[in-house]
Amino acid sequence: MKHVVILGAGFAGLELASRLADSAGEIRVTLIDQNDAFTFGFSKLDILFGRADAAEVRIPYRTLAKPGVEFRQERITAIDPAARRVTTDQGSYDADILAVALGAEYDVAATPGFAEGGFEYYSIAGAERMRDEALLTFRGGTILIGVLGQPYKCPPAPFEGAFLLHDQLVERAIRDDTEIRVIAPMAAPVPITPEVSQRFLDELAAREIEYLAQKRVVELDVPSKEAVLESGERLHYDLFVGIPIHRVPAVVAESGLAENGWVTVDRDTLLTPFPDVYAVGDCVAIPMAKAGVFAENAAGVAADGIVARIWGEELGRRYEGEGNCYLEFGSGRVAQVQANFLGGPSPTATVVGPSEELAANKKAFASDRRARWFGATSA
Ligand SMILES: Cc1cc2nc3c(=O)[nH]c(=O)nc-3n(C[C@H](O)[C@H](O)[C@H](O)COP(=O)(O)OP(=O)(O)OC[C@H]3O[C@@H](n4cnc5c(N)ncnc54)[C@H](O)[C@@H]3O)c2cc1C
Repeated sequence: MKHVVILGAGFAGLELASRLADSAGEIRVTLIDQNDAFTFGFSKLDILFGRADAAEVRIPYRTLAKPGVEFRQERITAIDPAARRVTTDQGSYDADILAVALGAEYDVAATPGFAEGGFEYYSIAGAERMRDEALLTFRGGTILIGVLGQPYKCPPAPFEGAFLLHDQLVERAIRDDTEIRVIAPMAAPVPITPEVSQRFLDELAAREIEYLAQKRVVELDVPSKEAVLESGERLHYDLFVGIPIHRVPAVVAESGLAENGWVTVDRDTLLTPFPDVYAVGDCVAIPMAKAGVFAENAAGVAADGIVARIWGEELGRRYEGEGNCYLEFGSGRVAQVQANFLGGPSPTATVVGPSEELAANKKAFASDRRARWFGATSA
């Protein structure tokens, strides 16, 4: 029986564990996460706009019932990829096969003034704070939404936030008193293809939301309520919303797995340079969008690779960086980007919808994952 240790029970770790549970006779899995519950990334928008409480959208790991999978709520404090040994705040684990799925964390302090003077909705606590301390009391003025660095999770999410914010301000009859500006280092909003970006530019223009391209906020001057750009230019704000700078968790940085900032992997197999050590999800250094659907897709390829390795077979496919991401265009309109980053000579993507069917599919997406990752069977 091979022991697979999976670090992180997010999109990637949960998908990998559930796929390996299908081989429960040959594989035993230890799945480790510091949290006691999983929450979908997109649920943070529901929390921010008061459509759900954090308690309603969290899925406790204690409900996880996959054969051959043991969940441990522990904080990982060290990873030795050469020895495939993991240390936590409660003990240590030796793995035959190790999978690192620890995601990305936020470096709020990297943007001076941001912690004191700005808001974010990329964490649950941040979405709750922005809802209660910023949106409830906002009466009009300039809202700046700044993408503070690249790469960042879910490329459409800053724009989805802007569309939903627009809706809320219209509902509260203060949209006419508010200017919304999105400021980002990218030349175009969601740059996978010019068509996808144009779609976002059209949706922004229809709401009179300004897009300031190839500009980055590097500091907030909190007393004067000004965002300082890389160029030295200063922009006034009444409410500053930042998409924080992302980085690998400290324990990954210290492990030597992420020499160039993100974990180096073979992009076909998701194997790191260390034998029998995989990395999947947001923590990897593949130059493509970071999102749950891609993390899940990568975990599927890694699962096939692990099973093939155990049976002494070749992995019969390669990772193509494909996935279909749901997009909130506001007013209940849900569309989808169907993307493939690595399958061909250049990335491809199409926007489908919005439609009522896609809005229903988005709901089913979450409940399907819940059943597959937490239920006793892989259905
Ligand atoms: C606002 C927002 C909207 C989004 N919308 C979408 C969307 O519509 N579609 C989509 O596909 N993606 C979306 N995403 C992105 C998606 O949530 C992430 O890309 C996805 O969660 C990445 O999966 P992962 O498994 O790599 O990392 P994660 O899901 O972040 O999981 C990593 C896990 O590692 C654990 N961990 C980290 N360090 C330690 C440690 N030291 N010890 C123990 N455990 C540790 C964490 O607790 C976490 O559970 C959105 C994200 C945000 C913020």
